[in-house]
Amino acid sequence: MEIAKLIRPHLLNLKPYSSARDEFDGSEGIFLDANENPFGSVNGKPYNRYPDPHQREAKVKLAAIKNVSPDQIFLGNGSDEAIDLLIKTFCEPQKDSIMILPPTYGMYKVCADIQDVPVIEVPLTAAFQIDLVAVEAQMRTSVKMLWLCSPNNPSGNLLDQNAMEYLIKKYSDVIIVVDEAYIDFAPTGSFINKINEFENLVVIQTFSKAWGMAGLRLGTAYANAFIISILNKIKYPYNLNRLTQDELVKSLDKHDKVAEVVEQITTNRNWLRLELEKLACVLKIYPSDSNQLLVKFAEADELFTKLIKELIIIRSRTKVQLCEDYLRISVGTTFELETLIQSIKKVTS
Ligand SMILES: *Cc1c(COP(=O)(O)O)cnc(C)c1O
Repeated sequence: MEIAKLIRPHLLNLKPYSSARDEFDGSEGIFLDANENPFGSVNGKPYNRYPDPHQREAKVKLAAIKNVSPDQIFLGNGSDEAIDLLIKTFCEPQKDSIMILPPTYGMYKVCADIQDVPVIEVPLTAAFQIDLVAVEAQMRTSVKMLWLCSPNNPSGNLLDQNAMEYLIKKYSDVIIVVDEAYIDFAPTGSFINKINEFENLVVIQTFSKAWGMAGLRLGTAYANAFIISILNKIKYPYNLNRLTQDELVKSLDKHDKVAEVVEQITTNRNWLRLELEKLACVLKIYPSDSNQLLVKFAEADELFTKLIKELIIIRSRTKVQLCEDYLRISVGTTFELETLIQSIKKVTS
């Protein structure tokens, strides 16, 4: 399969906006090309210059950490930007469709809905695994993308690696997006190391979870350089602001810290599971390879409301397909989790 055939044809010839900094990208010189204010920002901070539209410094550092080449990296304003741009890249509105496996992250469907791209939903099994028979039965030529979230949100578990690889190989004319927002918490490795092998594979990651930078809005997509070049062509020219780029570069120098945080969160998750198991109102806790626990409660809606009154906010999934009676708990600090357990005991006694 030639990957260019999967991209919406008009994008192949699209001439992107050319910014002043595309024409000259040195850092030394007298810059009178972008109508900036040469005197600095009103707040005294150094934000008077436009940021690097290609985020070169951050990409070189990230490429070394992820063992890819900088031109295999897209950096976006959260993974949400990558999700949105991927659908815009491959799906012709009202014609092409995407396949998703609910219950899963809500943004795939929202971004498709905004673009008027039909969504084919093939539910996961009761154990929140890929229903291969159903996926294959529902696969059709209109399907341009299959979205796999592993570890999955809200169930928290990794999808079966062999099933994922089987789908990537078999459906080489379908873009397979593997959303690895929680991969840092998982015992298995990332699919990033397969992007050279599979042209139709796109891996999404984020700095919002294990890296602790949700407030900065930083997401990534990894794929072959051709797909990445299209994403770069259609993004806003300055999609990552200067502050975010600077903070990212500093954080990449400290990437060793991620493992420490992951260890702490894993310890807390295991503690939380043990404590929840002791409670009569807890009916089932799903296996988790991430920083969330999906828990089936007796009277889930009632418990959720009572906890809010105690100023403890967890996520209700009771309106989500396959998740009726379920609440999702993000793994917090020891203090937060102890308070949660005390409060559940209090409001259910
Ligand atoms: C949290 C999350 C993201 C992250 O989104 P950002 O826009 O990068 O904050 C992506 N995918 C899944 C499945 C998530 O749960």
